[in-house]
Amino acid sequence: MKIAICPGSFDPVTKGHVDILERSSKLFDKVIAVVLVNPTKTPTFTTEERVEMIKRVTGHIPNLEVDSYTGLVADYAKMKNAHTLIKGLRAVTDFEYEFQQALTNKILNPDLETMFMMTNQKYMYLSSTIVRQIAAFDGDITEFVLPEIKDDILERIKPK
Ligand code: ADP
Repeated sequence: MKIAICPGSFDPVTKGHVDILERSSKLFDKVIAVVLVNPTKTPTFTTEERVEMIKRVTGHIPNLEVDSYTGLVADYAKMKNAHTLIKGLRAVTDFEYEFQQALTNKILNPDLETMFMMTNQKYMYLSSTIVRQIAAFDGDITEFVLPEIKDDILERIKPK
């Protein structure tokens, strides 16, 4: 079975993420979206909330699993017997960082291939940070996140 892993912080999950998950799911038998827990960062949403929000907006993708992991994605892939890591590329600005990550992961887990999927033109500007910034000023995030989670995001972030 061909399994691919889509790692990220998903803080929160955006339409850009869902687009990558939908497209990956057509290429692999199983795709795992994994919320990576970074102990040095303080996320806006808890790990459980991020996992739950991804599940809520991806119910239509039958071969998608959602999980979380504290540790290296190279080790997670070994544990799941996955040999492909899918990363979305938005712009040249993503490249330098992803390049470094991919080469490092190859050393940590030589059986793991990183594959880059070009962003959908509609979402090339979109990041979780943008969503948080707009929500912080009670702006309209309709274009950026799925309706199932929009109100929860605003409720959490918007100024009281
Ligand atoms: P963000 O930068 O939005 O906080 P994450 O760390 O959650 O992103 O990203 C997880 C994965 O999803 C990464 O591979 C990232 O490049 C990809 N991704 C995020 N937003 C988009 C988008 N709008 N288009 C394509 N890929 C994206």
